[in-house]
Amino acid sequence: MASQLAAAIFGMDGVVTRTAELHAEAWKAVFDEVLRACATAHDVPLRPFDEVLDYLSYVDGRPRQDGVRNFLTARGIELPEGTARDEPGIATVQAIARRKDATFERTLRREGARVYDSTLALLSALRAVGVRTGIVTCSRHGREVLQRAGIGGLFDARVDGIDIDERNLQGKPDPDSFLECARALGVAPARSALIEDAVAGVEAGRRGGFGLVIGVDRGGNGDALAANGADLVVSDLSELDVTTIQAGLRKRQQLLAWRIEQEGFDPTCEDDIESLFTVGNGYLGVRGSLESPLPGALDDMFVAGIYDRKQPALPYSEPEFLTDDDSTYGELVSLPFPFRLGLTVGGRPLCLRAGHWTTHRRILDLHEATLASELRFEIEGKRTLLRTRRIASLADLHLLLQELTVELENHSATIELDTTIDDPHLAGKHPHLERVAARPENTAVEVLQFRTKISKVRIAIASRTTLRGSGTDALQWRVPAGIGTQLVFRRFVIVYTSRDVRHPVPAALAHLRALEWSAFDKHVASHSSSWRQVWRHADIRVADQPDVEQALRFNAYHLRSAADHDPRVSIGARALSGRGYQGHVFWDVEMFMLPFFVHTCPELARQLLLYRHHTLGGARRRARAMGCRGACYAWESTVTGEDVTPRVIRLKTSGKEIPIHTGTQQIHVTAGVAHGLWRYWEATADEEFLREVSVEILAETARFWTSRCTRENGAYHLHRVVGPDEYHYNVSDNAYTNRLARFNLEKAWWAADWLQRSSPRQWHELTVRLALEPQEPGEWLRVARELYCPGPRSDGVIEQFAGFFDLEPYALPGEERLQPPVSRLFDADRINRLQLLKQADVLMLLYLFPEEFPHEVVRANYDYYESRTDHGSSLSPAIHAAVAARLGLRQQAERYFRQSLALDLSNQMGNSASGVHAACMGGTWQALVFGFLGARLTDAGLIVPDATERLPEEWSSVEIELAWRGSRHAVRVQR
Ligand code: BGC
Repeated sequence: MASQLAAAIFGMDGVVTRTAELHAEAWKAVFDEVLRACATAHDVPLRPFDEVLDYLSYVDGRPRQDGVRNFLTARGIELPEGTARDEPGIATVQAIARRKDATFERTLRREGARVYDSTLALLSALRAVGVRTGIVTCSRHGREVLQRAGIGGLFDARVDGIDIDERNLQGKPDPDSFLECARALGVAPARSALIEDAVAGVEAGRRGGFGLVIGVDRGGNGDALAANGADLVVSDLSELDVTTIQAGLRKRQQLLAWRIEQEGFDPTCEDDIESLFTVGNGYLGVRGSLESPLPGALDDMFVAGIYDRKQPALPYSEPEFLTDDDSTYGELVSLPFPFRLGLTVGGRPLCLRAGHWTTHRRILDLHEATLASELRFEIEGKRTLLRTRRIASLADLHLLLQELTVELENHSATIELDTTIDDPHLAGKHPHLERVAARPENTAVEVLQFRTKISKVRIAIASRTTLRGSGTDALQWRVPAGIGTQLVFRRFVIVYTSRDVRHPVPAALAHLRALEWSAFDKHVASHSSSWRQVWRHADIRVADQPDVEQALRFNAYHLRSAADHDPRVSIGARALSGRGYQGHVFWDVEMFMLPFFVHTCPELARQLLLYRHHTLGGARRRARAMGCRGACYAWESTVTGEDVTPRVIRLKTSGKEIPIHTGTQQIHVTAGVAHGLWRYWEATADEEFLREVSVEILAETARFWTSRCTRENGAYHLHRVVGPDEYHYNVSDNAYTNRLARFNLEKAWWAADWLQRSSPRQWHELTVRLALEPQEPGEWLRVARELYCPGPRSDGVIEQFAGFFDLEPYALPGEERLQPPVSRLFDADRINRLQLLKQADVLMLLYLFPEEFPHEVVRANYDYYESRTDHGSSLSPAIHAAVAARLGLRQQAERYFRQSLALDLSNQMGNSASGVHAACMGGTWQALVFGFLGARLTDAGLIVPDATERLPEEWSSVEIELAWRGSRHAVRVQR
């Protein structure tokens, strides 16, 4: 999305036409009648409708019926709803609305519609430079007003009250009607300016993601417009011109390119937002739940590496599935939410669930890695503003920081804050945990200790809170506060586990004790400075494409937040942001995420690979259990490297059992580890790592392949495998698996040879330790050469596995693409017989070995397999984008890239609630670097040949830094 202004959408009354006054007059006439009747009936003084204040606060910009309900509620008047057929004289909401309508119509016909000359001037200027214009009003008289004023021709699209009713759109502050107008203009909201005078309209603009929201303050509501999301407030449109709007949009987009904002509150989206707004530092991750979590919220904290036996009642991967599993380390453990706060003001709880909120905004600041929120409540006219921010420190991995500011805007009240983390619903929400006593040293500190039920890991969470300026700590606060007071509460939370230290409680307490409140800002600053380091090397700048930059940064944020320096852990499929796939580690790490780390932060890539060294024992046991030699990595791995993939999953609804073959047959993961080691070696020339770690893994995995394949008709073959595609099991000679196995064998031979020559003593030690026979490396090379790797047939297409071409063709409907594979699993046997792929398989092979296959072969395979792939895995679009980009298929490349780029931000697969898709994020990075830029890292250095030819049409330049053999290379591609 380019950053230029493409459209401007205007509210009607008060922005374009002077009809606001007519509306206010009509409202006054009808409401005063109702108020008079009430005053007489209850013998109370009459308080008439205020044409400025009441108009702006309750009715302006809203559909008529909402206006009636709003105002009457504010005055404590309850009237029946009535029906749309009610006669105007009856005392129902609908009748009053109709009365207002009739009154307005009379006045309009009598007085006509006048327009603001300054608005007309701006409209003409915008249209003169090609900006499309639209107008939105919830008035059913919209088209009549335009016609009477003679200005209909100044708008390319119009949405009025009649359209809203006919198309069943929601009224403001819902963004529906504005989004409908943007759709009619054919322009993305992010490239549109919205100009509104109503608070509800401005809020709708913000919620709808409009690029620039301009408030028009004609009656003293400037503060309310700004508070509800206006980027700019003017008193008349004469203060605006095209340049100001363009500049405003650009500034806002630059801001947004570093943050993810969310407006309003929709409980049904909370689970997804919790995943997106996770804060983490690799040691731990805390989902972005509200400070007062909703009932049923997935308000988890995860500590990397803390697993426990699978709880039968918890789903596996997708909510529809259950499994049994008796592994000690089957499931990443959900820990209590450490940012929990309970707040009451004047005895009333202030949380979204309790209602009465007027604005709610959350901002994930990617640059600072901070989640902030702003929440305004109004109860009986008393306004309270809450601001929060939270951090998982990247500078001190055991430390979480939280701040809450409470501001009483126009009232005095007693504020009560409860900072207890202890979750009253522990058993239901955190079924892996049992409580272990932990005595706090004083009542101002909360110390919780838990133990996982089967794996017996102890976890300590210690926290303390202060009120700034009070000089004390407490868990519960009760503070009387006067009008305009700002109270700032700050909290430190410390987390340790028995995997870090022998006694986590004393360690947590000692750490907590050592923190000074006066250093709170210093801790925030150290965290920011650690992230600045990250961005120095990981940021990607794409000129004039703020939404692309934003999504790339969002992805880098999550990837970095998931990686730690602990060699005992790696990154689960959903990072530390959700329960999806139980925190299991897949090939996702080496094949999808690793390159991002290799080229932005090689130290972390090293750590991720060390995890495979740490779990080599498990891989050896697994190879033995399969009747093989050497080491075979688990398809799904956790603590020990044993395979924790379920063998069977059960449908929650019917109990139907579905066998899962990936655990036993998706053995390409082993070659993926070898590929990752090699990639790291090539990019870093880290000889120590090669010597100490990689040679051993390469040797053991090569041994596995030699024992796993069978020799038939003069060649080696691999039977009973599942390739990356996953929809086909028990297949033979999967092109990807065989080629990767060959790669593994060849590199093992090379590494053995290298060690033998460069460090004979170490080679000797290794041969003793592994009982390696002298002839073994030679055997690896021979098997590599004789391992059958299917090549292209006459039309260039490579058969995915033996017999794929004979399977039943399947006409894949468009709507079956990019869906989580749930329904496919129901139907696994049938799918196994179809020419239908879940994700890139042969294309993954072509992607990894670009030098090996000529353009025509890649093209033939792309055309053949792309049309047969449903992208049931989030890993798929990025690889398609990369291959399409290399082929020069720009549009397809861009389409796949965008799908991959925004997969979580748009919840494209509908399952982001279970955590972000970390492999997709890494894959997207690769699609950009190795697809669009076509980066090649060669012995002679880094090259990006002809990159401008592949860049998406609208991109003019890309800047990125890539680490390669000890240096950091700044790459700038400019069209
Ligand atoms: C994909 C696998 C992937 C796993 C975890 C599955 O849906 O098919 O390739 O490793 O998800 O992300």
